[in-house]
Amino acid sequence: MGENLNIEELKTSVIDEIDAQRHQLSELSLKIHANPELGFHEVKATGWLTRYLEENGFSIEQGICELPTAFRASYGQGKPTIAILAEYDALPGLGHACGHNLIATCAVGAAVASKLAINQFGGSILVIGAPAEELYGGKTIMVDRGVFNNVDMAMMVHPGVYNTATTHALACQNLEVEFFGKAAHAAARPEAGINALEAMLNSFTAINSLRQHIKSTARIHGIITDGGQAANVVPAHSAANFIVRAEDNAYLDELKQKVLNCFIGAATASGARLEYKWDEVRYAPMRNNLTLARLFRQNMQSLGRRMQLFNPSNAFGSTDMGNVSQLVPGIHPIVAIAPKDVLGHSPRFAEAAASEAGVQGLVDAAKALAMTATDLVANPNIATKVKKEFQQQK
Ligand SMILES: [Zn+2]
Ligand SMILES: [Zn+2]
Repeated sequence: MGENLNIEELKTSVIDEIDAQRHQLSELSLKIHANPELGFHEVKATGWLTRYLEENGFSIEQGICELPTAFRASYGQGKPTIAILAEYDALPGLGHACGHNLIATCAVGAAVASKLAINQFGGSILVIGAPAEELYGGKTIMVDRGVFNNVDMAMMVHPGVYNTATTHALACQNLEVEFFGKAAHAAARPEAGINALEAMLNSFTAINSLRQHIKSTARIHGIITDGGQAANVVPAHSAANFIVRAEDNAYLDELKQKVLNCFIGAATASGARLEYKWDEVRYAPMRNNLTLARLFRQNMQSLGRRMQLFNPSNAFGSTDMGNVSQLVPGIHPIVAIAPKDVLGHSPRFAEAAASEAGVQGLVDAAKALAMTATDLVANPNIATKVKKEFQQQK
């Protein structure tokens, strides 16, 4: 009983600490928002974030994993080692339309406040700065290069239009395809040509047919990036980008072959030669640790923000946090910063990421993260339960 009271008092100081940082966190978030940087070029953002952490007593390693804009900031020693992840990349043409400025600022605010719990109970708190979430899956590289090998739990919060403690994210992989045909005068000698565009169109038709007979949670979508040069020339070259997504890795593998068969069939039918390349980066599905998610939700609700355990909508994408969650117990809750009709990756969402609701979201999320970190270092039984659930999911 005495100890419980202690934890509650500590949580109150953690909340006060984040309220005290509110102005600085808001300024930092707006500064990153006003200076959007694309994946692997987040030089200003990482400079500001690491300076803030350094000023607050964290040791910084910049450029880890041979990625110049990746970093690790650490405070404390020993177990458990709790990682809070920061994303800070923007979208081409849209700026911070995914609100990663809020993710980054929330992470540093939560980590600085978690020091209070670390000072009292021991353990370590890390901020892992993970670049290029949107375009290149920076975390998939960092997972492969061992950053998470000594981490016990990994947490981050993403802004959105719902308050949910878990994220449903699909496994996914990109595919680039090209057809090589033969150019000819489209009117004078069409019989001499091999039409690379028709091969591509037939592939799209085959994939549209395939889509009727796949699991409802899977996704296949693509664009044509080269469809020929002139209407009076039989296109000798065509190219497209596709993304294939599925709820689990096994079904993704099955679907990848089916999608590829559509292109192979079109190549045979047209006589065009097919070349294809699956991207080296593969996003894993999100494995939500429900022990952590419930704990986070409870802490968030104690702040007066209602939060559901599961997303009520059917809108799911993919995140490289999925790869982290396959290696260590993790959560990727969503905090609402805009009304439900605002679409992610839209100019309205970019506005929300610089709004007062955005700041409130980052402050609440930082508090709930630091309170959850407090529970984890203060109560070894909870940490054990988190790990046990993770082992059982494997
Ligand atoms: Zn995002
Ligand atoms: Zn995004």
